[in-house]
Amino acid sequence: MPKIEPVRTCVACRNKGTKENFFKVVMNKNGEVLVETTKKLDGRGAYVCKNQECLNLCKKKRILNRVFKREVPENVYEELLSEFNKQ
Ligand SMILES: [Zn+2]
Repeated sequence: MPKIEPVRTCVACRNKGTKENFFKVVMNKNGEVLVETTKKLDGRGAYVCKNQECLNLCKKKRILNRVFKREVPENVYEELLSEFNKQ
């Protein structure tokens, strides 16, 4: 039986895919919103495609604020873009 990969949905464009295609942003139990980079983070996750368009849209429309129903600091959006630029 092949392992079934859970399907993620981009918060910006609603496209679906497996986790390799997305950046993951997590809200931990303290309500802090963090970009998951190398280490695995626990908490509620949101996914954004690894493309400039979705990341810009996410930042412009403050999509993560809506997803997590809280004020997400500017640096979280900046960190996503800098992760993208690192690739
Ligand atoms: Zn997307």
